[in-house]
Amino acid sequence: MIYEVVIGVEVHAQLRTKSKMFCGCGTMFGLTANSQTCPVCLGLPGTLPVINQAAVEMAVRTGLALNCAIGAHNRFARKNYFYPDLPKGYQISQYEAPICEHGWIEIITGDSKKKIRIRRAHLEEDAGKSVHQTGTNSSRVDLNRAGTPLLEIVTEPDMRSADEVVAYLKGLRETLIYQDVCDGDMEKGNFRCEPNLSLRPLGQKEYGTKVELKNINSFKFVKDAIEYEIKRQTKVLNEGGKIQQETRLWNIDREETAVMRSKEEAHDYRYFPDPDLVPLRISEEWSDQVKSTLAELPAELRSRLEEEYGLSEYSAGVLASDKGFLKYFEEGVKEGEKLGYSKIEVGKELANCITVDIRGLTRMMNRRPGITENLSPALSRDPVREEIRPGTITVSAKNLMELVDKKMKGEISGPTYKAVLEEMFNTRKTAAEIIETKGLKQVSDEGAIEKIIEEVLAKNPAQVAQFKEGKQQVLGFLVGQVMKASGGKANPAKVNELLKKKLGA
Ligand SMILES: [Zn+2]
Repeated sequence: MIYEVVIGVEVHAQLRTKSKMFCGCGTMFGLTANSQTCPVCLGLPGTLPVINQAAVEMAVRTGLALNCAIGAHNRFARKNYFYPDLPKGYQISQYEAPICEHGWIEIITGDSKKKIRIRRAHLEEDAGKSVHQTGTNSSRVDLNRAGTPLLEIVTEPDMRSADEVVAYLKGLRETLIYQDVCDGDMEKGNFRCEPNLSLRPLGQKEYGTKVELKNINSFKFVKDAIEYEIKRQTKVLNEGGKIQQETRLWNIDREETAVMRSKEEAHDYRYFPDPDLVPLRISEEWSDQVKSTLAELPAELRSRLEEEYGLSEYSAGVLASDKGFLKYFEEGVKEGEKLGYSKIEVGKELANCITVDIRGLTRMMNRRPGITENLSPALSRDPVREEIRPGTITVSAKNLMELVDKKMKGEISGPTYKAVLEEMFNTRKTAAEIIETKGLKQVSDEGAIEKIIEEVLAKNPAQVAQFKEGKQQVLGFLVGQVMKASGGKANPAKVNELLKKKLGA
């Protein structure tokens, strides 16, 4: 039997507000357990929640970026369940009236484009964390995370492969980061993915029984878990078995999924409107105001970069995928304009420098232990890309442009440019300082080059004779000798030209 895979995805994105969803506690990650709590998020009786306006604004911003309709009439509901990390005995969420509905996002896999429909996105609060201590055989509860705002984003079952799911998740994460609503840091759990998956015989209309995969925190694990689950379900069905509706966990070490719990239905949670919170009305005027502050969407940004700066699809893609690099690039271009270049003239050169050379250097530095202490205090690692964040590059956009300018004017050769850039990275000196102290300035002066050529020709009479007999390839050897004698500083174009003249070619 051939089966079709049907996948929908739920993402819990932690909104990057300064304070929690319903109280004034902070949302910093990694502080001492229970230091960011108050009577409201501890669930003490008699306290009243207050809606965080910044969280609502971020939800609206996300909804607009995902082409959703924004619900004018919002209601918060209580989702009742017991768990040690949920002191109130319920989570405040949205049930009947979510803040965003009926959106879509376009994904690209291989050569094909596809729209994935967003069913809804609703606001809710996060639970605390149970910390299981294996040594003492005990568990403790940390409520620092309890009450931090989450946006749960749910798709329609529109995806048909693990690759489509990963493309969707990458696109969604990029959008959230671009709109400044979520850090997208999967390791810290502020972007959690829960795919649900079922199989149906190809051509059948009704869906099969779905299995939900809980809290996966890397794109690789998402892909692995889905591919494993497709194989597992295919086997069960082919052997005449039935799929149980359940929630399963991905075990990273054993590379398999295992049952976590049988799937609960919505009615198990006894949702009802939270009587402590007034209905939330969102005016069209306010939502329009939020719309005017939307950041450029990644796809639009890529085409703007290609048009405005004449960039290749590759460079535009790299810059568009990282805000830090993009800002660095655009600052660099502005510096270039001050030096009299047009955006197109300098754009390509600078984009190559950043997307190839600078990225290469940041990766290299990342591999060196202890390097972080020597860099700026703002340094942080991107756990997904495993690179040093571009905001922390030690070479300023102005200094970088100064170096690129020298390369463009032919004052330094290609290899010298690379060496100087690396030195700038390591020492924070400017290009001019390094070129000056190391005497790296490219020699274009004809007299000086001619002098070196004469010496080289005198030392290699055999090769000169060969050239005169018609052995053209000897020219390359002689050019190499001249370059070597000049310490790599001679302008290669000039060397070629003068050498040919001297040899009478
Ligand atoms: Zn609190």
